[in-house]
Amino acid sequence: MTTALISHPACSRHDMGRFHPERPARLGAVNDALIEAGIADLLMHCQAPRVTRQQLERVHDKAYIDYLESHAPLAGNWELDHETIMNPFTLEAARRAAGAVVHGVELVMSGRADNAFCNIRPPGHHAEHDLGMGFCFFNNVAVGAAHALQQEQIRKVLIVDFDLHHGNGTEEIFQDSPQVIICSSFQHPNYPDKPFARDSQRIINVTLQAGEGSIDFRNRVADSWFPAIESHQPDLFLISAGFDAHGNDPLSELRLTAEDYYWITGRLVELADRHAQGRIVSCLEGGYDLKALGLSAAAHIRALMKL
Ligand SMILES: [Zn+2]
Repeated sequence: MTTALISHPACSRHDMGRFHPERPARLGAVNDALIEAGIADLLMHCQAPRVTRQQLERVHDKAYIDYLESHAPLAGNWELDHETIMNPFTLEAARRAAGAVVHGVELVMSGRADNAFCNIRPPGHHAEHDLGMGFCFFNNVAVGAAHALQQEQIRKVLIVDFDLHHGNGTEEIFQDSPQVIICSSFQHPNYPDKPFARDSQRIINVTLQAGEGSIDFRNRVADSWFPAIESHQPDLFLISAGFDAHGNDPLSELRLTAEDYYWITGRLVELADRHAQGRIVSCLEGGYDLKALGLSAAAHIRALMKL
Protein backbone atom coordinates (compact mmCIF):
# COMPACT_ATOMS: atom_id res chain seq x y z
CA MET A 1 0.00 0.00 0.00
CA THR A 2 1.63 3.26 -1.14
CA THR A 3 0.11 6.64 -0.40
CA ALA A 4 1.83 9.64 -1.99
CA LEU A 5 2.03 13.03 -0.30
CA ILE A 6 2.46 15.73 -2.93
CA SER A 7 3.36 19.33 -2.15
CA HIS A 8 5.74 22.13 -3.09
CA PRO A 9 7.60 24.79 -1.06
CA ALA A 10 6.01 27.55 -3.16
CA CYS A 11 2.63 26.67 -1.68
CA SER A 12 3.83 28.02 1.68
CA ARG A 13 5.03 31.31 0.18
CA HIS A 14 1.63 32.41 -1.10
CA ASP A 15 0.45 34.76 1.64
CA MET A 16 -2.74 36.86 1.69
CA GLY A 17 -1.90 38.81 4.83
CA ARG A 18 -1.33 38.34 8.52
CA PHE A 19 -4.98 38.05 9.52
CA HIS A 20 -6.19 35.97 6.61
CA PRO A 21 -7.48 32.53 7.70
CA GLU A 22 -6.10 30.84 4.56
CA ARG A 23 -2.51 31.15 5.69
CA PRO A 24 0.84 29.47 5.03
CA ALA A 25 0.97 27.75 8.44
CA ARG A 26 -1.87 25.44 7.36
CA LEU A 27 0.45 23.22 5.32
CA GLY A 28 2.92 22.93 8.17
CA ALA A 29 0.08 22.05 10.55
CA VAL A 30 -0.78 19.08 8.31
CA ASN A 31 2.86 17.97 8.09
CA ASP A 32 3.32 18.29 11.86
CA ALA A 33 0.19 16.23 12.51
CA LEU A 34 1.48 13.48 10.19
CA ILE A 35 4.74 13.35 12.17
CA GLU A 36 2.81 13.36 15.44
CA ALA A 37 0.62 10.48 14.19
CA GLY A 38 3.75 8.51 13.25
CA ILE A 39 2.80 8.20 9.57
CA ALA A 40 4.95 10.85 7.88
CA ASP A 41 7.76 8.39 7.17
CA LEU A 42 5.38 5.83 5.66
CA LEU A 43 4.30 8.17 2.85
CA MET A 44 5.90 8.57 -0.58
CA HIS A 45 6.89 12.26 -0.60
CA CYS A 46 6.71 13.96 -3.99
CA GLN A 47 7.37 17.46 -5.24
CA ALA A 48 4.52 18.88 -7.31
CA PRO A 49 5.33 19.80 -10.91
CA ARG A 50 4.04 23.03 -12.42
CA VAL A 51 0.71 22.66 -14.21
CA THR A 52 0.97 23.32 -17.94
CA ARG A 53 -0.99 25.95 -19.78
CA GLN A 54 -2.71 23.21 -21.78
CA GLN A 55 -3.79 21.41 -18.59
CA LEU A 56 -5.25 24.65 -17.21
CA GLU A 57 -7.08 25.46 -20.43
CA ARG A 58 -9.08 22.23 -20.20
CA VAL A 59 -11.10 23.87 -17.41
CA HIS A 60 -10.28 27.59 -17.42
CA ASP A 61 -10.94 30.36 -19.92
CA LYS A 62 -7.79 31.52 -21.73
CA ALA A 63 -8.56 35.17 -21.04
CA TYR A 64 -8.98 34.44 -17.32
CA ILE A 65 -5.57 32.71 -17.15
CA ASP A 66 -4.04 35.66 -19.03
CA TYR A 67 -5.73 38.07 -16.62
CA LEU A 68 -4.19 36.32 -13.58
CA GLU A 69 -0.77 36.04 -15.22
CA SER A 70 -0.73 39.71 -16.23
CA HIS A 71 -1.83 40.92 -12.77
CA ALA A 72 0.45 38.67 -10.68
CA PRO A 73 2.55 41.20 -8.76
CA LEU A 74 6.35 41.27 -8.76
CA ALA A 75 6.19 43.06 -5.40
CA GLY A 76 3.39 43.82 -2.97
CA ASN A 77 -0.13 42.47 -3.41
CA TRP A 78 -2.89 42.49 -6.00
CA GLU A 79 -6.51 41.81 -5.03
CA LEU A 80 -8.54 39.62 -7.34
CA ASP A 81 -11.24 40.34 -4.77
CA HIS A 82 -11.03 41.57 -1.19
CA GLU A 83 -10.30 38.08 0.21
CA THR A 84 -8.53 36.46 -2.76
CA ILE A 85 -5.16 38.13 -2.96
CA MET A 86 -1.97 37.52 -4.92
CA ASN A 87 1.54 38.13 -3.64
CA PRO A 88 4.69 37.56 -5.74
CA PHE A 89 4.59 33.80 -4.99
CA THR A 90 0.89 33.16 -5.60
CA LEU A 91 1.02 32.33 -9.29
CA GLU A 92 3.80 29.80 -8.74
CA ALA A 93 1.93 28.30 -5.76
CA ALA A 94 -1.29 28.04 -7.79
CA ARG A 95 0.54 26.38 -10.68
CA ARG A 96 2.16 23.87 -8.31
CA ALA A 97 -1.15 23.21 -6.51
CA ALA A 98 -2.93 22.33 -9.76
CA GLY A 99 0.16 20.44 -10.93
CA ALA A 100 0.10 18.38 -7.73
CA VAL A 101 -3.33 16.97 -8.56
CA VAL A 102 -2.25 16.21 -12.15
CA HIS A 103 0.80 14.42 -10.73
CA GLY A 104 -1.38 12.50 -8.27
CA VAL A 105 -3.56 11.30 -11.15
CA GLU A 106 -0.47 10.14 -13.04
CA LEU A 107 0.92 8.32 -9.99
CA VAL A 108 -2.26 6.34 -9.37
CA MET A 109 -2.89 5.66 -13.07
CA SER A 110 0.61 4.26 -13.53
CA GLY A 111 0.41 2.23 -10.32
CA ARG A 112 3.38 4.02 -8.74
CA ALA A 113 1.04 4.92 -5.88
CA ASP A 114 -2.26 3.41 -4.76
CA ASN A 115 -3.62 6.79 -3.77
CA ALA A 116 -2.38 10.32 -3.07
CA PHE A 117 -2.97 13.37 -0.91
CA CYS A 118 -1.98 16.81 -2.20
CA ASN A 119 -1.01 19.12 0.68
CA ILE A 120 -1.52 22.30 -1.29
CA ARG A 121 -2.68 25.88 -1.26
CA PRO A 122 -4.18 28.01 -2.66
CA PRO A 123 -7.30 25.84 -2.57
CA GLY A 124 -9.37 25.47 -5.73
CA HIS A 125 -13.02 24.42 -5.53
CA HIS A 126 -14.55 27.92 -5.65
CA ALA A 127 -12.69 28.84 -8.85
CA GLU A 128 -15.04 28.78 -11.84
CA HIS A 129 -14.23 28.58 -15.54
CA ASP A 130 -13.47 32.30 -15.79
CA LEU A 131 -13.72 33.54 -12.21
CA GLY A 132 -11.47 33.09 -9.19
CA MET A 133 -13.02 33.69 -5.76
CA GLY A 134 -13.13 32.45 -2.17
CA PHE A 135 -9.32 32.17 -1.77
CA CYS A 136 -9.17 30.11 -5.02
CA PHE A 137 -7.43 30.94 -8.33
CA PHE A 138 -7.22 27.68 -10.33
CA ASN A 139 -9.63 24.81 -9.69
CA ASN A 140 -7.10 22.14 -8.72
CA VAL A 141 -9.51 19.20 -8.49
CA ALA A 142 -11.14 20.13 -11.81
CA VAL A 143 -7.76 20.31 -13.53
CA GLY A 144 -7.03 16.82 -12.16
CA ALA A 145 -10.39 15.45 -13.32
CA ALA A 146 -9.99 16.89 -16.82
CA HIS A 147 -6.48 15.44 -16.99
CA ALA A 148 -7.75 12.01 -15.94
CA LEU A 149 -10.44 12.06 -18.62
CA GLN A 150 -7.72 12.33 -21.27
CA GLN A 151 -6.74 8.76 -20.42
CA GLU A 152 -8.42 5.97 -22.33
CA GLN A 153 -9.06 3.79 -19.26
CA ILE A 154 -11.00 6.57 -17.55
CA ARG A 155 -14.61 6.83 -18.65
CA LYS A 156 -16.01 8.42 -15.50
CA VAL A 157 -14.48 10.44 -12.68
CA LEU A 158 -16.03 10.99 -9.27
CA ILE A 159 -15.35 14.20 -7.35
CA VAL A 160 -16.26 14.08 -3.65
CA ASP A 161 -16.27 17.42 -1.85
CA PHE A 162 -16.84 17.51 1.93
CA ASP A 163 -15.62 21.04 2.52
CA LEU A 164 -17.83 23.27 4.71
CA HIS A 165 -18.61 25.34 1.62
CA HIS A 166 -20.23 24.38 -1.68
CA GLY A 167 -17.68 23.80 -4.45
CA ASN A 168 -19.45 26.16 -6.83
CA GLY A 169 -16.49 26.28 -9.21
CA THR A 170 -16.29 22.52 -9.62
CA GLU A 171 -20.04 22.27 -10.20
CA GLU A 172 -20.01 25.15 -12.70
CA ILE A 173 -17.09 23.70 -14.67
CA PHE A 174 -18.62 20.21 -14.93
CA GLN A 175 -22.34 21.02 -14.98
CA ASP A 176 -22.65 19.72 -18.55
CA SER A 177 -20.04 16.91 -18.36
CA PRO A 178 -21.69 13.48 -18.28
CA GLN A 179 -18.35 11.85 -17.44
CA VAL A 180 -18.01 13.66 -14.09
CA ILE A 181 -20.05 12.70 -11.02
CA ILE A 182 -20.00 15.13 -8.10
CA CYS A 183 -20.94 14.16 -4.54
CA SER A 184 -20.83 17.15 -2.25
CA SER A 185 -21.84 18.08 1.30
CA PHE A 186 -21.84 21.59 2.69
CA GLN A 187 -23.45 23.95 5.15
CA HIS A 188 -26.43 25.76 3.69
CA PRO A 189 -26.99 28.63 3.81
CA ASN A 190 -23.37 29.75 3.80
CA TYR A 191 -20.74 31.10 1.41
CA PRO A 192 -20.72 31.19 -1.65
CA ASP A 193 -24.50 31.61 -1.68
CA LYS A 194 -24.93 30.68 -5.35
CA PRO A 195 -27.48 28.31 -6.91
CA PHE A 196 -26.58 24.60 -6.88
CA ALA A 197 -28.00 21.44 -8.48
CA ARG A 198 -30.93 19.98 -6.55
CA ASP A 199 -32.49 17.23 -8.66
CA SER A 200 -29.57 15.83 -10.58
CA GLN A 201 -28.67 12.12 -10.81
CA ARG A 202 -25.07 13.12 -11.40
CA ILE A 203 -24.48 16.08 -9.08
CA ILE A 204 -25.49 14.97 -5.60
CA ASN A 205 -25.59 17.87 -3.16
CA VAL A 206 -26.17 17.12 0.53
CA THR A 207 -26.97 20.23 2.55
CA LEU A 208 -26.36 20.48 6.29
CA GLN A 209 -27.74 23.16 8.57
CA ALA A 210 -25.95 25.11 11.27
CA GLY A 211 -25.63 22.96 14.38
CA GLU A 212 -25.69 19.62 12.56
CA GLY A 213 -22.85 17.17 13.08
CA SER A 214 -21.56 13.61 12.79
CA ILE A 215 -24.80 11.64 12.71
CA ASP A 216 -26.52 13.98 10.26
CA PHE A 217 -23.47 13.98 7.98
CA ARG A 218 -22.97 10.22 8.08
CA ASN A 219 -26.62 9.30 7.56
CA ARG A 220 -27.16 11.75 4.75
CA VAL A 221 -24.06 10.96 2.72
CA ALA A 222 -24.65 7.21 3.18
CA ASP A 223 -28.21 7.62 1.83
CA SER A 224 -27.30 9.96 -1.06
CA TRP A 225 -23.69 9.51 -2.12
CA PHE A 226 -23.10 5.79 -1.77
CA PRO A 227 -25.97 4.56 -4.00
CA ALA A 228 -25.00 7.17 -6.63
CA ILE A 229 -21.37 6.00 -6.56
CA GLU A 230 -22.45 2.35 -6.81
CA SER A 231 -24.66 3.08 -9.82
CA HIS A 232 -22.20 5.32 -11.73
CA GLN A 233 -19.14 3.11 -11.05
CA PRO A 234 -16.50 5.81 -11.56
CA ASP A 235 -13.00 4.73 -12.60
CA LEU A 236 -11.16 7.29 -10.47
CA PHE A 237 -12.05 9.09 -7.23
CA LEU A 238 -10.94 12.66 -6.59
CA ILE A 239 -11.58 14.35 -3.26
CA SER A 240 -11.86 18.05 -2.48
CA ALA A 241 -10.80 17.56 1.12
CA GLY A 242 -11.78 20.64 3.06
CA PHE A 243 -11.72 20.22 6.82
CA ASP A 244 -13.50 23.46 7.73
CA ALA A 245 -16.75 21.68 8.70
CA HIS A 246 -14.91 20.58 11.87
CA GLY A 247 -16.63 21.79 15.04
CA ASN A 248 -13.59 23.82 16.11
CA ASP A 249 -13.15 25.64 12.82
CA PRO A 250 -13.68 29.41 13.12
CA LEU A 251 -15.73 29.48 9.89
CA SER A 252 -17.91 26.48 10.76
CA GLU A 253 -21.33 26.13 12.29
CA LEU A 254 -21.23 22.39 11.63
CA ARG A 255 -19.80 19.96 14.16
CA LEU A 256 -17.81 17.36 12.31
CA THR A 257 -14.90 15.63 14.06
CA ALA A 258 -11.62 14.12 12.90
CA GLU A 259 -13.30 10.71 13.32
CA ASP A 260 -15.91 11.71 10.72
CA TYR A 261 -13.15 12.39 8.20
CA TYR A 262 -11.61 9.02 9.03
CA TRP A 263 -15.03 7.39 8.57
CA ILE A 264 -15.93 8.98 5.23
CA THR A 265 -12.46 8.36 3.82
CA GLY A 266 -12.61 4.70 4.84
CA ARG A 267 -15.97 4.27 3.12
CA LEU A 268 -14.61 5.96 -0.03
CA VAL A 269 -11.54 3.69 0.04
CA GLU A 270 -13.87 0.65 0.10
CA LEU A 271 -15.92 2.00 -2.80
CA ALA A 272 -12.80 2.89 -4.78
CA ASP A 273 -11.40 -0.60 -4.20
CA ARG A 274 -14.59 -2.05 -5.64
CA HIS A 275 -15.03 0.24 -8.64
CA ALA A 276 -11.83 2.12 -9.37
CA GLN A 277 -8.95 -0.24 -8.54
CA GLY A 278 -8.46 1.80 -5.38
CA ARG A 279 -7.48 4.93 -7.28
CA ILE A 280 -8.04 8.05 -5.14
CA VAL A 281 -6.41 11.46 -5.41
CA SER A 282 -7.34 13.86 -2.61
CA CYS A 283 -6.46 17.53 -2.36
CA LEU A 284 -6.64 20.01 0.47
CA GLU A 285 -9.30 22.72 0.27
CA GLY A 286 -10.39 24.57 3.46
CA GLY A 287 -9.65 24.07 7.18
CA TYR A 288 -8.69 27.08 9.28
CA ASP A 289 -8.17 25.93 12.87
CA LEU A 290 -4.60 24.65 12.72
CA LYS A 291 -5.06 21.95 15.35
CA ALA A 292 -8.38 20.68 13.96
CA LEU A 293 -6.98 20.83 10.43
CA GLY A 294 -3.91 18.77 11.37
CA LEU A 295 -5.88 16.11 13.24
CA SER A 296 -8.54 15.90 10.53
CA ALA A 297 -6.08 15.69 7.64
CA ALA A 298 -4.00 13.07 9.50
CA ALA A 299 -7.16 11.00 10.10
CA HIS A 300 -8.06 11.32 6.41
CA ILE A 301 -4.58 10.26 5.29
CA ARG A 302 -4.48 7.38 7.80
CA ALA A 303 -7.70 6.06 6.25
CA LEU A 304 -6.19 6.41 2.75
CA MET A 305 -3.29 4.28 4.02
CA LYS A 306 -5.75 1.73 5.47
CA LEU A 307 -4.22 2.13 8.92
ZN1 LIG B 1 -14.41 25.89 2.77
